Amino acid sequence: MGKAVGIIGGGYAGLCAAAHLAIAGHRVTVFEAETQLCTHSSGRNAAMFRHLEPTPALVRAAQRSRAIVDGWCGDRSWLAPRGALYVADRPSALAPFVAAARAAGLRVDERTGPAVAAGQPWAQGGARGQGLFVPDDGVMDIHAMQAAARAVAKAHGARFLMHTRALEVTARAGRVDGVRAGTEQVPADIVVNAAGAWAGPLCAPLGAPLPLAPLRRHLVLLAVGPGVSRPDGPALWALDDDECYVRPEGRGVLASPGDEAVSAPCLPVPDPDALDALAVRLARLAPGLAEARVQRHWACLRTFAADRQPVLGPDPRVPGLFVLAGLGGHGMTLGAALGADLAASVDGAAVEPAWATARLTRKGGLSAVA
Ligand SMILES: Cc1cc2nc3c(=O)[nH]c(=O)nc-3n(C[C@H](O)[C@H](O)[C@H](O)COP(=O)(O)OP(=O)(O)OC[C@H]3O[C@@H](n4cnc5c(N)ncnc54)[C@H](O)[C@@H]3O)c2cc1C
Repeated sequence: MGKAVGIIGGGYAGLCAAAHLAIAGHRVTVFEAETQLCTHSSGRNAAMFRHLEPTPALVRAAQRSRAIVDGWCGDRSWLAPRGALYVADRPSALAPFVAAARAAGLRVDERTGPAVAAGQPWAQGGARGQGLFVPDDGVMDIHAMQAAARAVAKAHGARFLMHTRALEVTARAGRVDGVRAGTEQVPADIVVNAAGAWAGPLCAPLGAPLPLAPLRRHLVLLAVGPGVSRPDGPALWALDDDECYVRPEGRGVLASPGDEAVSAPCLPVPDPDALDALAVRLARLAPGLAEARVQRHWACLRTFAADRQPVLGPDPRVPGLFVLAGLGGHGMTLGAALGADLAASVDGAAVEPAWATARLTRKGGLSAVA
């Protein structure tokens, strides 16, 4: 007999958790404060499917996600396999990524010197001497992915309560027993905190705050005119201190200055200074885009734990409370696999130790947010 599971948050994390939990036979209710699913980070991100991560477990999670989303979508049409070229000044900046890729069996092509920019017209004249090409990276159709996850969840009986903010996770005798939303009390054996930027304070009244920081980041849509190389080919991503990336988007280019500013949970207002920061970083990363014109820019939040690993599984402080949060800058890539791990943990499976919530309460564990 499945359990009654309330999931707070209808972003991609909550959707993936809902799909896996419903498949496993649980009775799932998703609470989403907005009138549409995936209104916040899950609908406003760069849509890059990036396998390259600093630990083998995260690389494997990307590989697992790809297989799961293939199944939910019925084919691979959700992912345009453009490849991605990661660049840095020093080999040490790329070394952990190379090691993790090799351990996880991910195809990567290491490059140095003039070969770094081969096949990437925007990078010609760029200053970085180290490169790593990942042929299997690509651009996601995030709307198709979200629709597929939702359809799977619904087909297995999940219900979605839209425009319904969860006001409180309730407990009886120290154990979770439901979710209060407006005047309604929805009973639940299990509650999953998948509230994205709102996840940190959500369960503080129960004695279970999460040490997470929402960090604002900008995205900028650039129009490329005559004299600028055609937007084609792989994404280009500088991984050192002045992080910055660009990728083709329709007839233009999507770029980010790689900025990070601590924010309250909200829909952030874009800061025009981000455009100056982008111009400086682009001049070094992709001199070929110097003349590109800004069409539109926006900002949204990436939410991190201090160690920048996901936070996943049962919260040891409150029986019945589970977490799927801290998905940072890769929640669209990793969401399907992390949702599977969350669902497995509800049924008693162990969680990857680096992601487990136990590190929240361990002495010397996560206390501050970077
Ligand atoms: C600029 C930028 C670029 C990015 N690019 C990429 C990328 O290229 N590739 C990639 O893989 N990832 C990328 N990401 C990261 C990715 O977008 C996030 O990791 C992912 O969307 C997080 O999903 P989520 O469901 O945890 O959060 P969200 O999408 O924010 O969803 C949380 C939901 O919870 C709801 N909620 C909150 N509180 C309550 C409540 N009390 N009751 C009911 N509902 C509530 C909110 O309304 C929201 O809909 C990017 C992020 C940013 C900011």
